[in-house]
Amino acid sequence: MKRNKKNKKQIIRKLLNKYRWLRVYDRNGHYYRDVAWLYNDYPKGWAKALLPLMIQDIHKELCYTGDVGRFRILDCKEKYGEMRCDHNGQCSYKVDEIIMKYAYLSHYTCTICGRPGMMVNSGWIIPMCKSCFDKRGYKKPYEEMTDPDDYFEPVFEVKIYNKSGVETREYDVTDIVKRMKPKYRQEINL
Ligand SMILES: [Zn+2]
Repeated sequence: MKRNKKNKKQIIRKLLNKYRWLRVYDRNGHYYRDVAWLYNDYPKGWAKALLPLMIQDIHKELCYTGDVGRFRILDCKEKYGEMRCDHNGQCSYKVDEIIMKYAYLSHYTCTICGRPGMMVNSGWIIPMCKSCFDKRGYKKPYEEMTDPDDYFEPVFEVKIYNKSGVETREYDVTDIVKRMKPKYRQEINL
């Protein structure tokens, strides 16, 4: 447990140094060392498997649109087993698409270790891999607390509600999965 915590801090420090727009400043321009969402709320499994890649993708888009320095993540955390990310809106729609893809991946990423997992429903819904689940000593087996039909697929659909009704859009996370470290990578026919 302790070792995991240390790893998360190292990941955060590295990200804050590389991507200065992640830092939060007070009115006097002093930088708060503790970016609360990063240190407190964001699950360490996701911090290992997903966060560095997501920040890299967002950064690339911000550079392209010239929004570095304007864009801020206000909060990013786990809610109902899914990554939720709030920001100040100073970016293109593509940043929201990036966040949506990682939110989708978060469903199937163990919040504890970052390896592929499934949603475990114990009244509290949280994605977990079988190994982390077994360590926690639940009474029922993993197979009974997960939904076999809710498995990872590289392409997913999102319903978008607009003036003309409902529109379904498809998103593909294959390119993200290819860039993940092998131990965190979802099974996919690459
Ligand atoms: Zn795990």
